[in-house]
Amino acid sequence: MAIIFEGKSTCPICSQVLDKGKPYMGFLPFTGNAKDILFMFSDSGVHVDCLHSHPHGALALLHRNKCGEALKPENRKCWIDGQVIERREHVISFGMFTSDESEPLAKFNYMMLNRLNLGRWQDRKAFISAGTEFLQAGKWGSLTEVNVLQIAINEIK
Ligand SMILES: [Zn+2]
Repeated sequence: MAIIFEGKSTCPICSQVLDKGKPYMGFLPFTGNAKDILFMFSDSGVHVDCLHSHPHGALALLHRNKCGEALKPENRKCWIDGQVIERREHVISFGMFTSDESEPLAKFNYMMLNRLNLGRWQDRKAFISAGTEFLQAGKWGSLTEVNVLQIAINEIK
């Protein structure tokens, strides 16, 4: 979960500090795309009431669950061969790229790949072209110099 300091961290929706006075929930850093409508929730603590009244609250909750599922050790299975990836250094996983399901890139959200299987991944080209187009269209944003999508493309290439 996000690291939340009660009395210091603020809710991204109402900007009030998070404390015991009002229930809130934490989100893992599930996306690196600063331009996504859900980015505000990534790695944040959010009041439950604020979340439920926010237009993207339901979608944020859906991704909170998807991310939680994807991270369970028993779900660390390679999309290519269906086998649990035993060694952490073989895991290729980048969380959510886009919450817009109409994007071709969306089908690669929470992808889990064993590095050793990349050579026989049938969607390899599809991922690279979807990712490259997404970048070129300016739909990806980074708050730092680390561009997660570019890193993903480089890893898969
Ligand atoms: Zn709030």
